[in-house]
Amino acid sequence: MDRVDLIVIGAGVVGLATARALALSPAFAGREMMVLEAADAIGTGTSSRNSEVIHAGIYYAQGSLKAGLCVHGKALLYAYCAERGIAHRRCGKLIVATDEAQVAQLAGIVAKGAANGVDDLVLLSADQARALEPQLRCTAAIHSPSTGIVDSHGLMLALQGDFENAGGVVALNTPVERARRVPGGFVLTMRDGTELLAGAVVNAAGLTAQALARRCEGLDPALVPPSHFAKGNYFTLAGRAPFSRLIYPAPEAAGLGVHLTLDLGGQAKFGPDVQWVESPDDLVVDPRRGDAFYAEVRKYWPGLPDGALQPGYAGIRPKIQAPHEPARDFVIQGPAEHGLPGLVNLFGIESPGLTSSLAIGERVAALLGDG
Ligand SMILES: Cc1cc2nc3c(=O)[nH]c(=O)nc-3n(C[C@H](O)[C@H](O)[C@H](O)COP(=O)(O)OP(=O)(O)OC[C@H]3O[C@@H](n4cnc5c(N)ncnc54)[C@H](O)[C@@H]3O)c2cc1C
Repeated sequence: MDRVDLIVIGAGVVGLATARALALSPAFAGREMMVLEAADAIGTGTSSRNSEVIHAGIYYAQGSLKAGLCVHGKALLYAYCAERGIAHRRCGKLIVATDEAQVAQLAGIVAKGAANGVDDLVLLSADQARALEPQLRCTAAIHSPSTGIVDSHGLMLALQGDFENAGGVVALNTPVERARRVPGGFVLTMRDGTELLAGAVVNAAGLTAQALARRCEGLDPALVPPSHFAKGNYFTLAGRAPFSRLIYPAPEAAGLGVHLTLDLGGQAKFGPDVQWVESPDDLVVDPRRGDAFYAEVRKYWPGLPDGALQPGYAGIRPKIQAPHEPARDFVIQGPAEHGLPGLVNLFGIESPGLTSSLAIGERVAALLGDG
């Protein structure tokens, strides 16, 4: 059986960022490294079905992995984009209150951001917000200047390039079926029966990371968290974008509300909403869900014309908590948690996973640092 020093399962943005960080770490320099991807291309999962927003790091509980990795990941990502010429724009965003109850919420959001190290948030009156975005209707707003957008595919190509330049190999059409612990590492079995012995394994399988972990012999199944799927549907706007910054309503329980984001070409889209689904493959957008978008969007953009929204695409959030349970943090589960040297599981890497990807990679490299 062939032996590889490191295998990362999953070529999404998190798997690729982790593979790159490990490939550049002294522990794996000059070693055999592979990324195994089930699909026929990199980044076809959640990593190409999101808002492509570089989040500031405002909303997450103080001291959480989401807060720390988002704020650090944002700094790493802006620097990496500049260094590698990856398309991105620090366009800023407005978080808008459209009634008095939400105005009270804004001060809490600024305080939460400050506690996480996001110290550039500015509270704006309705007039100040409208001076920035004349078509906006709001009672008050927060301006977050460090929020931006990034070409997620360009980012993933750069990460893949760095990994390959360091000697790593990305194998497509290679679904890992199961794993078992053996002396010196793990035997991974592919769907076609091929086996590989890996010294170290990172499970970055996104929506199916928990299912795969449950098929890892030797890993205590009680340590694998539950898996739930919260679909987010997007609707695109026909015509010119009315705003030059991202516009977010005050946040909701399971998501960030039906917000407006821009892509690098200036096209506007609204979403994602929150629709709990049973399957990680349930990606079709039901056009009828668009009806509810009109009322939500008109709370902050009364100028939205009838019939202007077209079904776009959907992405699915890999949730650990069930609907109505409190939000859970990312889970980065290493040997200290499960007792198996050389294994790291990544569970629940929902938003802000894209922003945090380089920081997650650093964190995993530290966990597997002794090779
Ligand atoms: C609607 C939505 C909006 C979001 N918006 C943002 C945002 O604006 N900003 C932000 O920072 N984050 C955002 N996120 C979060 C971000 O998209 C994710 O955190 C990130 O893409 C997760 O990357 P990943 O590599 O963990 O997973 P994925 O991209 O899903 O990659 C996992 C890969 O593993 C492969 N795989 C699975 N099982 C196997 C197997 N057994 N063998 C081999 N390969 C396997 C899959 O094919 C897939 O390619 C959003 C998420 C959603 C759902």
